[in-house]
Amino acid sequence: MNRLALAVDPLEHTPPSVDREVKKSADPVLVSLSDVHLSFGAAPVLNGINLSVRRGEAVSIIGPSGSGKSTILRCINGLIAPQHGEIRVDGIDVRAQHTDAQKIALRKRIGFVFQQYNLFPHLSVLANLTIAPVSVLGRSRAEAEHDAHALLKKVRLADKAHAYPGELSGGQQQRVAIARTLAMRPDLILFDEVTSALDPETVGEVLNVIGELVDDGQTCVLVTHEMRFAEDVSDEVFFTEGGVIVEHGEPSQIFGAPDNDRTRLFLQRARGEDRRALRKRSRSNAALALATL
Ligand code: ADP
Ligand code: MG
Repeated sequence: MNRLALAVDPLEHTPPSVDREVKKSADPVLVSLSDVHLSFGAAPVLNGINLSVRRGEAVSIIGPSGSGKSTILRCINGLIAPQHGEIRVDGIDVRAQHTDAQKIALRKRIGFVFQQYNLFPHLSVLANLTIAPVSVLGRSRAEAEHDAHALLKKVRLADKAHAYPGELSGGQQQRVAIARTLAMRPDLILFDEVTSALDPETVGEVLNVIGELVDDGQTCVLVTHEMRFAEDVSDEVFFTEGGVIVEHGEPSQIFGAPDNDRTRLFLQRARGEDRRALRKRSRSNAALALATL
């Protein structure tokens, strides 16, 4: 283990309260937000969010732009702190993680995949996947490379280990970014609209990979505009608007028989957009097929 890893090892300088924390880790609930309120300056953005995610579950957050979805994710991994409420991840009080070492220890356990993949352009795919496990987690290079090859196989990019990000399509780069996140063996992965910036023909391959992770039991919170995907993979769906959770429930209920008019209206609009996106995807697939004849 290298010095950096030692510096941020959560087991170092174990506080006396850790026994309680360890016992809590047997709790089926991995993430919980209770009455979370957050304002940016005078502008209220989250107005009493309650949400919980059990181990092995996939939870989706859907809702209009600006409704607070990304802010919820950023609160979960401690990137921003709400003014009020409680957030726990595996029993750890996220708001009480004040030092850099505490914050890093928390974030090592929570993967975050964004719309922008942010791969290192000057490093090969393999090096992108091994740099953090080696330098942050202190794994040996051989072990990290072994893991990286297995993960590339999982995201169906086994033949791209020595490629550079610039040589890959957006969908391939996003799959590398997902593999890079998995390389840290996180307890939880937060996905924030990871397909929004992709060419339509590469969206499906990324959603398939995420769907397989969910099937494998990876705990996930997904912010997505892909309604069919959310319906397919989620154990529970939360609909947000104006910084509140308007409605939540099983996907069959939320998508099939929403209780709230706001949810119904949002889904009607989103389905219209979904249909347009699907038409665009099938047009570009047809164009691709023609081009390769
Ligand atoms: P969503 O992900 O649902 O589109 P966000 O969580 O990104 O919504 O944003 C919710 C609201 O908070 C928006 O009105 C946005 O402009 C505002 N907001 C987000 N981040 C900041 C910030 N760092 N400073 C000020 N306002 C912000
Ligand atoms: Mg957002």
